[in-house]
Amino acid sequence: MEYGPSVEDSSAVRDWLAAQGRFGHFIDGAFTDVGATFETRDPSTGDVLARVSQGSEADVAAAVAAARAAQPGWAALSGTERARYLYALARHVQKRERFLSVLETLDNGKPIREARDIDVPLVARHFYHHAGWAELRDSQFPGHAPLGVCGQIIPWNFPLLMLAWKIAPALAAGNTVVLKPAEYTPLTALAFAEICQEIGLPAGVVNIVTGDGVTGAALVASEVDKIAFTGSTEVGRGIALALAGTGRRLTLELGGKSPFVVMEDADLDAAVEGVVDSIWFNQGEVCCAGSRILVAEAVAPRFEALLRARMARLRVGAPLDKSTDLGAIVDPVQKDRILSICQAAVEAGAELVGGQPQDGCFIAPGYLRNIAPANPGMVEEIFGPIATLSTFRTADEAIELANATRYGLAGSVWSESATVATDLAARIKAGVIWINGANMFDAAASFGGMRDSGYSREGGHSGMRDYLAGPKVAPMTTPASP
Ligand code: NAD
Repeated sequence: MEYGPSVEDSSAVRDWLAAQGRFGHFIDGAFTDVGATFETRDPSTGDVLARVSQGSEADVAAAVAAARAAQPGWAALSGTERARYLYALARHVQKRERFLSVLETLDNGKPIREARDIDVPLVARHFYHHAGWAELRDSQFPGHAPLGVCGQIIPWNFPLLMLAWKIAPALAAGNTVVLKPAEYTPLTALAFAEICQEIGLPAGVVNIVTGDGVTGAALVASEVDKIAFTGSTEVGRGIALALAGTGRRLTLELGGKSPFVVMEDADLDAAVEGVVDSIWFNQGEVCCAGSRILVAEAVAPRFEALLRARMARLRVGAPLDKSTDLGAIVDPVQKDRILSICQAAVEAGAELVGGQPQDGCFIAPGYLRNIAPANPGMVEEIFGPIATLSTFRTADEAIELANATRYGLAGSVWSESATVATDLAARIKAGVIWINGANMFDAAASFGGMRDSGYSREGGHSGMRDYLAGPKVAPMTTPASP
């Protein structure tokens, strides 16, 4: 890996990691002793960054007990008092923005530009936004009570951002939490635990237990009132089965295979830039990535020529280099998974443009063309920097192709006509549709899917509702006679 002059300085983070070495869980306001551990690595170099505790059933039980004990006190605070803590979390995330960005890039492999300009600012924004909701809860949700203790399980693609999406609304609503970060990327959650200590968040309100799927399963089986899960459809389905009949709340944010529809009248340069922001953002490790590009036949040759030229200019390289566009895939296992789907797609008759594996955990951006609807590359969530490219003749055909998936997380529509764009947007079966844009997020705009992409909403009013019990029914009164 070559490091040029534009490489972000990582010495403060490396000093912090060296000082810690091994991390315990964060339970009841303090870091626990370190027991069994696993390694977390920098995927761009393979170097071990730290050893992190593998959460046992007992660790999960201790964290749930701490959250249970803290919950009545947290819920009894006024909205304004809870908001003060959420504002403080937001401010301290901003104060440590550079540190958190570098740590996220080291642990996940994403380009520093994205960690610094997208992930961490959105984290702060999410806490600011939900500080407002802490104050507004009672006026906007009269009679609703918090659920109690929420178990939260998150993936590795946006580690700190997914943490913020989970923790901020839960706390604003008056719940306490036990969060389990993904095993590839536990470090920013542990840095966040330090921030909880710094701001004096009451002990037990936020608990972090690190570990793999076994730890996650222990959390699902524990005495929590809700599980909020973001991850793969397969694991989400297993969690739904495990909770069936328990009466516990469950929210699921799962995978996707989102359509990116380019109409004949679209601004093609803008649409090509949209592809870059959609499937080549975060190495394509994005649940709502526009992974199926559908282009009107009449403009397909021109669109594809522009796409190829743009793709050739993308730089794959050291994640800490500020000029890098695509960093490292999170782990060799994920790299192999991406390559094996691409191989199956090619064996089934598709042509792969770009998408070559490189030394280490790197894959060049690419796309599959001449691809049949039933080809595995068209059906499977690749979760890497490889899109599919197909064409359509009519708007109806575009919709048919767009909806030919078991998923329904997001979609993008590109057209210069508002009527065409809004008509298509309404007919695509997905929770989120962007018009002439892609991957645009805001804490106030609810995000979530349908069909095999799950059913919950995170952000804004609906996101808050998912962390509250239904309203208490007002006592029936007989209306006074006139
Ligand atoms: P994953 O399902 O393998 O893991 C997600 C989390 O679940 C991890 O923390 C993991 O340790 C835990 N886990 C694994 N097995 C478990 C079990 N049996 N019980 C409880 N927890 C368990 O997913 P991943 O590979 O980390 O993430 C990629 C997937 O997440 C993709 O499918 C992506 O589309 C999806 N995703 C969805 C959204 C969304 O908002 N809809 C956002 C990001 C990622």
